[in-house]
Amino acid sequence: MKLREIYQEKNSSKNLFPKISFEVFPPKGGSAYYPALYEELNLLKKYKPALVSLTWGAGGKNNNSMALVEALRHQLDLNVMAHFTCICNSRENIEKHIKEIESLGIDNILALRGDEPQDLEVCHTDFRFASELVSFIKSRTDLSVAVAGYPEGHIEAPDLETDITNLKRKLDCGGEAIFTQLFFDNDKFFSYIELLDKKGINVPVIPGVMPVISFKQVERMTSMAKVSVPPVLISGLEKYKNNPDDIKKFGIEFASSQCSNLIEYGVTGLHFYTLNKSYSTSKILDNITAVV
Ligand code: FAD
Repeated sequence: MKLREIYQEKNSSKNLFPKISFEVFPPKGGSAYYPALYEELNLLKKYKPALVSLTWGAGGKNNNSMALVEALRHQLDLNVMAHFTCICNSRENIEKHIKEIESLGIDNILALRGDEPQDLEVCHTDFRFASELVSFIKSRTDLSVAVAGYPEGHIEAPDLETDITNLKRKLDCGGEAIFTQLFFDNDKFFSYIELLDKKGINVPVIPGVMPVISFKQVERMTSMAKVSVPPVLISGLEKYKNNPDDIKKFGIEFASSQCSNLIEYGVTGLHFYTLNKSYSTSKILDNITAVV
């Protein structure tokens, strides 16, 4: 099912539960670890995900995830959105990969630039920005294309306004939905939606939610991207930092209240960064479905 059929309305009616999607990544140990991922996804299936997205290796490295894309689609019968990056990749290779994705019966792709490696000069890159990849995919396939959005601005962008202007380029080139980077402060997301509205951007914007499972994880995220950490999250992390079970429990509570607030606002979807584990995401979904 394509993005426009899944997210038919920009914002769902307040009485409708948002469409749920899960993000997973190819296990670092390779195919020997696929069965463990299938198990986690099978546990998450009861929440009827509208789609499951599979990340593409950082720096454009293909970690043989095509086989996994195929298995998720055909063995697990999931509606897969394949991520794909254009950094350090040639037009020819990109064409081959996007056609392969389409030939596997995949309807949706998340078109990304990818993080620039430090030695960019030594890698050959035909497309500089994701907008060029979006145009190329639209010209070569019938895939439905999603793009990435950054509620607090992309780390390289001089300011949020400029980043939104660049986001609009991706939509003008054929992007049909925006999946956001994770955030912990819903007010940042709400102001982002207002700014997008002002720019005339009216495609579905799907907020990214990541359950906190450790102090280190938050430190890592905030060092890599512009992500504010509200005081209540900081104090919880401080309080429970020496107890992994308590921090997980706190992370579930925090994300559950974040999601409830997003649902109240009327988001059309919720995209969970599952980190390949079903536990926290399941608990959050149990909490929010019990309340709604
Ligand atoms: P772009 O949209 O090209 O933007 C990159 C930067 O360039 C921004 O600062 C933008 O403002 C600027 N820019 C864009 N166009 C122009 C222009 N014409 N002129 C000047 N400046 C411009 N990475 C992976 O490697 N694999 C993944 O699977 C993956 N999945 C992701 C999923 C989501 C939901 C998100 C939010 C991010 C994901 N990323 C992934 C990370 C992403 O690749 C990085 O954030 C990357 O640095 C930017 O990618 P982009 O597609 O947003 O790039």
